[in-house]
Amino acid sequence: MLDYIIVGQGIAGSLLAYELLQANKKVLVLNDESLPSSSQVAGGMFNPVTGRHLAKTWLADELFPFLKTYYPEIEQRFNAKFFHQTGLFRPYVNEKQRTQFQNAILKHEIAHYVSDAKDFEKMGQFIANDLGGLQTADAGWVDVPELLKTLKSHFIASESYANEAFNYDELKVKPENVIYKSYEAKSIIFCEGFHAKNNPFFNWLPFNPVKGETLLVESPDYAVTEIVNQGSWVIPLAERKCRFGATYSWHDLDFEITEKARATLQEKIGKFFKSDYRIISQQAGVRPSTTDRRPFLGKHPEYINIYIFNGLGTKGVSIAPFFARQFRDFLLQGKEINSETTIERFYTLY
Ligand SMILES: Cc1cc2nc3c(=O)[nH]c(=O)nc-3n(C[C@H](O)[C@H](O)[C@H](O)COP(=O)(O)OP(=O)(O)OC[C@H]3O[C@@H](n4cnc5c(N)ncnc54)[C@H](O)[C@@H]3O)c2cc1C
Repeated sequence: MLDYIIVGQGIAGSLLAYELLQANKKVLVLNDESLPSSSQVAGGMFNPVTGRHLAKTWLADELFPFLKTYYPEIEQRFNAKFFHQTGLFRPYVNEKQRTQFQNAILKHEIAHYVSDAKDFEKMGQFIANDLGGLQTADAGWVDVPELLKTLKSHFIASESYANEAFNYDELKVKPENVIYKSYEAKSIIFCEGFHAKNNPFFNWLPFNPVKGETLLVESPDYAVTEIVNQGSWVIPLAERKCRFGATYSWHDLDFEITEKARATLQEKIGKFFKSDYRIISQQAGVRPSTTDRRPFLGKHPEYINIYIFNGLGTKGVSIAPFFARQFRDFLLQGKEINSETTIERFYTLY
């Protein structure tokens, strides 16, 4: 008998399955590769200080040291490359913002993450930055599709993966185990991202999904190695390509690319990006965000062997490693889940 069936191989299901396999559990990941997934289109950025008011990312002091060793360890183990701690440069928009940000840098809680950029002139040929900008050394990006490809190979080698659509009607829940088609497991964990809306066990949770679109571009002359972010961002990729992102829409929650998003990104990025570029492709996805902007982790209120790991929202790359480990410790050792993330906070909605 299996220990766990995991539904979904986005970043949530992948890291949780990895953690459980590491603990010698028998795991089967069921993933429908024909479904669009948020992880496959994510920019993959991690950034400890964000927004107009330079807010420190929730739990940054725990999440960032953790992810900075977590991803490189997986890279090393599988001889892969997907973790890029490039740093991030945020050109000041105007004098007012420069003063505001320079004052904010002095604040104790963000002081060791951000600084006033020293050698910004070197980027002047590519990025409009007459006033300088803010530097975040701890920021970077994870090539999420590459990470998932690496882990999928590991799951296949461990006989722990099937490309298969999960049909909720065929799940039989017993007090001791769950039975799904020919598979029998002690428990099942749902990690379907936005598609959790179709899950009859968890569709009562207050998701607040956000559609997002990005552009993949080719820019032969662009030679900046850091991420540049001024509301919209540019991530430098290999072979003179870049990713431009991202839009946010709480309407039209589908996976269709739109002219509107393309125009919005080109307009916003055109304000600071000076090099020529050609659009290669456009991507759309839906972020599994939640109303209180905290993840959904935990056990179903009624069935003791049904769990969820979801709600990673806009920050899956930063949140998933720390909470996959915490969730593993909850499952295997009964340790507590962070009270802001357990779905017990919404049991009254069930
Ligand atoms: C445009 C855009 C840009 C983003 N940029 C960033 C960023 O820069 N940094 C960051 O941290 N985050 C970013 N995100 C958010 C990030 O993508 C998510 O936080 C994260 O990928 C969610 O992962 P997940 O595993 O929960 O869901 P998903 O990645 O959606 O994975 C769910 C998986 O479940 C499978 N599945 C669903 N239902 C079934 C079923 N019935 N049967 C079988 N399989 C099923 C799907 O096929 C899929 O593989 C971005 C998102 C978007 C859309």
